[in-house]
Amino acid sequence: MIIIKCAKCKEKIIKYVKLGKGNVHRCYKNRIQKYYVQLNNKELKCPICGKLIGSDQGNYIKINHHTFTYSGTIN
Ligand SMILES: [Zn+2]
Repeated sequence: MIIIKCAKCKEKIIKYVKLGKGNVHRCYKNRIQKYYVQLNNKELKCPICGKLIGSDQGNYIKINHHTFTYSGTIN
């Protein structure tokens, strides 16, 4: 389980079950455990700085490079 945060503010965005190695590019909705920020207009934005972290692509959320950091354990 990892927590994806805004790279700048460290504000929590989503809690996600990450499987396998590699970078986080897509967060599949069925593995998102918690939304700290609600999707608005198919966008996930940092509530503090307003940076666009991810965008809704249907069954997954595309996470933008260089906008986030994460903490936690990759399963
Ligand atoms: Zn921010």
